[in-house]
Amino acid sequence: MSTQSNLPNISTSSNTSVTEQAAARATIDVASEMQPEKTVVNKLPPKPDYPRYRVRPEQPIVLAALDPNECEDYGKKKHVEEELERQRKRIQNLQERLYAEHQRSLLIVLQAMDTGGKDGTIKHVFGGLNPQGCQVWSFKKPSDDEANHDFLWRYHQRAPQRGMISIFNRSHYEDVLVVRVKELVAKEVWQERYHLINEFEHMLTLNNIRVIKFFLHISKDEQKRRLESRLEDPSKHWKFSSNDIKERKYWDDYQTAFEDAINNCSTAYAPWYVVPANKKWYRNLVVARTIADTLESMNPQYPPAEVGLENIIIE
Ligand code: ATP
Ligand code: MG
Repeated sequence: MSTQSNLPNISTSSNTSVTEQAAARATIDVASEMQPEKTVVNKLPPKPDYPRYRVRPEQPIVLAALDPNECEDYGKKKHVEEELERQRKRIQNLQERLYAEHQRSLLIVLQAMDTGGKDGTIKHVFGGLNPQGCQVWSFKKPSDDEANHDFLWRYHQRAPQRGMISIFNRSHYEDVLVVRVKELVAKEVWQERYHLINEFEHMLTLNNIRVIKFFLHISKDEQKRRLESRLEDPSKHWKFSSNDIKERKYWDDYQTAFEDAINNCSTAYAPWYVVPANKKWYRNLVVARTIADTLESMNPQYPPAEVGLENIIIE
């Protein structure tokens, strides 16, 4: 891979092992990618400026201050359709290169309040990907087997193999969200998990897995509208869960838990993006473009061809 020549010099003491040096170099290299999509975005016109949705580690966010209705100057779905298609094509091409390179992979975490649009995002952003290079994992209440292991066990098993894109529909963040709000473990237990999650994601990053995380930000009114439309429209009845009504009562607690998770775990190497998601089409565009830009900044390369291909004659 190409980054070796850009690595900073690290002073080493004689008792530092080669492995430790390599890990330190990789960490610094990752930290220098504080703006994972920057290289690409800088070449494009300043607007739309999607990196602004990235949460900077040094600048904690307040969810109530972020507008879920934001959609730049786009008025309607049809105004973004062409642009969304362009971003999907970029993702498709870059996915092929990532798969062919077979060295690195991408983990995309999707989190939201109920009805926030995780399923819709998966359908509309990833619909055109080669299924061979992409896996979606949905995490529900842990099974007995999962609950009998450490909390990261089931997520680690689903981390992407080389060349793959994995999408986590809910994720290890549930263990500081629902688990915190519903008091499924003691405060001392979930509090320690922010740090453990950062370590986990750091470990994945050092193992060539790029991690990006999206919070699809909807308003409480928008959730009401979506729940009502699921009740009114018979073709949406299957999506309705009375559990969502119960969880809605904890809206404020969930917002606080999300805020803490995002602020504690948006790191240089594994950033959180808070995506305005009241308008589904704008949400899709922001997610698609951020993924395309991230993949492009990874710059996956086709592996070198076998030597002597030019001399081969097919008989
Ligand atoms: P959809 O409703 O779109 O089908 P979903 O992700 O909401 O998808 P559900 O089966 O409705 O799926 O809900 C899954 C539930 O599992 C959520 O209430 C979530 O909070 C819960 N859950 C996920 N991870 C954990 C966990 N680690 N501990 C406890 N509960 C969890
Ligand atoms: Mg649900």
